[in-house]
Amino acid sequence: MLLKGFMEKIFCNACPRHCNADREVGRGFCGVPDTFLIAHASKHFWEEPPLCGKGGSGTIFFSGCNLRCVYCQNYEVSHKAKGIFMTDEELEAAMLRLADEGAVNLNLVTPTQYAERLIPILKSFKAKCDLPIVYNCGGYESVEMLRTLGGLVDVYLPDFKYASGELAKKYSAAPDYPKVAEAALEEMLSQVGKPVFDETGLLKKGVIVRHLVLPGNRQNSIDVLKLLADRFGTKNYLLSLLWQYTPEFAKNSPYPELHRRVTTFEYRSVADLAVSLGFEGYFQEKESATSDFTPLFEGTEH
Ligand code: SF4
Repeated sequence: MLLKGFMEKIFCNACPRHCNADREVGRGFCGVPDTFLIAHASKHFWEEPPLCGKGGSGTIFFSGCNLRCVYCQNYEVSHKAKGIFMTDEELEAAMLRLADEGAVNLNLVTPTQYAERLIPILKSFKAKCDLPIVYNCGGYESVEMLRTLGGLVDVYLPDFKYASGELAKKYSAAPDYPKVAEAALEEMLSQVGKPVFDETGLLKKGVIVRHLVLPGNRQNSIDVLKLLADRFGTKNYLLSLLWQYTPEFAKNSPYPELHRRVTTFEYRSVADLAVSLGFEGYFQEKESATSDFTPLFEGTEH
């Protein structure tokens, strides 16, 4: 949370990093000030099918990130925090413009570092527009902050990146990631419940958990699926298994396993496990190192 301190200064502890940073004059781990830095706002057609429909997902990409993974596929935005400054009013206007253009939802991408500042804007947006609000994040969220979003967010779209703290430390400097992400997912599920679709197949409420298969880390993916199935079952949310890893951004990292693409064997074996555990959700095609989703796992009905 943003805590008022001495002389009414605001110190940021909004996420599990607990930087206690004064973002009026400096920056914490996420690398952004307290005013909105926005990388992009447009309709986007490459999310999971029930988030796009024909109108596209109205995405707002927030600059900065509280994870900054070494292989991040969005390096310029997350690590370098590139973007343009927007006032609160300008951001709400951008949201309403996306709604006017026919977006089927409002998709907040990497919003964690701005979550508290977003609350009054989302309240105002919701009073004017009934589009579902999608909170699209890395899964490294504080439960306390998530609770302040209860009733505002309709769809949670978190990653679940790691089952191993060691791996989370190595790639994302977040050794507590598995426990934090587990608690966050529990809170998300308690807020929005099981997936609810409209008559056209668009997701109106619920959780989609994303997992990006990483090269050389098949065991991590297997452990993530088993952790999710053991802890949360496989029918209370949808799983989206991503194959879009590209090594371009990790090529200078000291981890040689990240310097190649994911093999067909790696992805397919994880996908086979997802099906055998009973998950429902979405696969990606190999070419989607661009981002095309095949519709659904076997047995999913919508
Ligand atoms: S939101 Fe940013 S500054 Fe605040 S605690 Fe998290 S990483 Fe640190």
